[in-house]
Amino acid sequence: MATESNLKAPQALPLVMAPFDVSPCACCAPAVSLLNCTMKVTDQELCKVEHWHSKAPPPAAISVNTRIFVNAKIITVDAAFSFADAMAIKDTKIVAMGEFADLREAYPSADIIDCEGKTILPGFIEPHMHLLPIATIGQYEDVGPFVCPAIEDALIRLGEMVSLAEPDEWVVARQIDPSLQSGAADLDRHMLDRVSATQPVFVYNASLHFAYCNTVALQIAGINKNTPDELSSSYGRAADGTPNGVLQGGRAMAAVIRHNPAQQAYDLASACLAVGSKANKVGITTLCDQGTGLGRGIVELDIYRTMVESRRMTARLRYSLSGLLQEKWDSLDVQYADGDDMVRVVGWKIVSDGSNQGLTGLQRQPYLFATSAVDSGAGDNLQEIPANAFGVAYIEADELKDMVVERAARGWPLVIHANGDQAIDNTLDAYQAAYDLGLLTNGPYRIEHCSILHDDQIQRIKTMNLSPSFLIGHVYYWGAAMRDSIFGLTKANLLDRTAACEKQGIRWTLHSDEPVTEMNPLRCIENAVTRKMWQEADSVLAVDECIDVATALRAMTRDAAWQCHSGDEIGSLEVGKYADFILLDQDPLSVPVDEIANINVTETWLAGACVYRAAV
Ligand SMILES: [Zn+2]
Ligand SMILES: [Zn+2]
Repeated sequence: MATESNLKAPQALPLVMAPFDVSPCACCAPAVSLLNCTMKVTDQELCKVEHWHSKAPPPAAISVNTRIFVNAKIITVDAAFSFADAMAIKDTKIVAMGEFADLREAYPSADIIDCEGKTILPGFIEPHMHLLPIATIGQYEDVGPFVCPAIEDALIRLGEMVSLAEPDEWVVARQIDPSLQSGAADLDRHMLDRVSATQPVFVYNASLHFAYCNTVALQIAGINKNTPDELSSSYGRAADGTPNGVLQGGRAMAAVIRHNPAQQAYDLASACLAVGSKANKVGITTLCDQGTGLGRGIVELDIYRTMVESRRMTARLRYSLSGLLQEKWDSLDVQYADGDDMVRVVGWKIVSDGSNQGLTGLQRQPYLFATSAVDSGAGDNLQEIPANAFGVAYIEADELKDMVVERAARGWPLVIHANGDQAIDNTLDAYQAAYDLGLLTNGPYRIEHCSILHDDQIQRIKTMNLSPSFLIGHVYYWGAAMRDSIFGLTKANLLDRTAACEKQGIRWTLHSDEPVTEMNPLRCIENAVTRKMWQEADSVLAVDECIDVATALRAMTRDAAWQCHSGDEIGSLEVGKYADFILLDQDPLSVPVDEIANINVTETWLAGACVYRAAV
């Protein structure tokens, strides 16, 4: 048992607050921003950011002999989706594509690399992820539903972690989701006290909007029945006011987790570099962070600079600035396209609503829970539709319009998160205002997630030449919930309408939004092709929206590069582009479609250098 003697006294650590107070969406959870505020960046934090955005001279290229890759199926993903017999690279770039005999003749002294029948693709581009949240939360062990089907399994795993930890070490895990894990409606401190009564245990809910801790953790943080709730964040309590270990919202979570000494010593730049290495294993060569600044404010640019200067980056980084820090970015005079081929700002991010699975996506019609409540009201007792039945606008329509017009006029390509159909209407109206003024000249202009799409909206997207990016894991992980409990079948069938957009000639992409779903382009491709749902192997959501494999490959390479304003550099295997490519042990165009996600990435190359090679 925990006793006073073996507990540390509560420490009065200062909680440095973010310069803003936001609660946008699952992909931009406030927990992350508050959590990050308790961490060290590195010594680079002390650097000024003013000169970051002036172009740095490119690192001197290491000259190596020309190499010709042969004996592979090379899927170039060029405009014609053509195939090549061989590919020659010199230093960082592709210098020739074509028949092996011709390349051999052109480069007689080249090294020949036999690919043993593997498939070569352009490196995948993840057009929407969140670098700092992955770097921070991602370090913790996953005890969620895909690893531990029952809550009891998660508790057993936590117990194993405790047995391996040092006596006073915090045991921290993530992804617990009582709505998808059987055995308990919720976690509380008593359940976690069974894991350990002597050392602190802390577990993030998958949504990142909640966390759970045991009694020791509460005691170390000095939180008891007399502790008041935090601003817009509270401690779950028993009837007598004693905290029950449920931490609701970013501030309550931060008030506990900031006492973890390991967190204080955390090196964010190295953790971000590790995210790049992790991405390489699933074939990603370029990441696009959607909301830079949301975690640590403007010093995130220092983290990026530290990554570049380390010369240890194994993936390119593109990023959109979080619009919530508009004044800061403007005072630094950050401009579109500042940076270079390794790290570059390519967009301005605005979050217009919440998430559909969190019932905070902004809808034209009420969510199912509200309409069923009304339906069940008998006769004169018809209940009124609750105020939250339509979800949440994180920004009012008029304000969104003004912001889009103002930012577009300043040359910023916009990246607007919109999940619900009303949020998409508002986003389209805002784009329309800028379009009518002739301001949409620096595209592509994006709509993120763009989850529920009606035909009339698809026409507007086409007319204004906008570009959606779909979080295709919505279909796989939450498709059944959308159908059964969130929207009903008719509206759920409007989820992630890739084929409908494709038919209209709209360019679109797929993304993971990690930490919402895990980065894995081959899984995204399989999900978009099959539209099968987790735990319902045989049912398909909106079969008309299934697309073919080649189209899905294009979405994760060529079109993602274009969407990240990098289409001239990367995204296809063509002469003059960077030698960013991957080797696969099977051809995604040939395997059965529900085996695409099982294909192994055997090598990942960035700018002519192998950055990942699978163990044989
Ligand atoms: Zn996101
Ligand atoms: Zn989002």
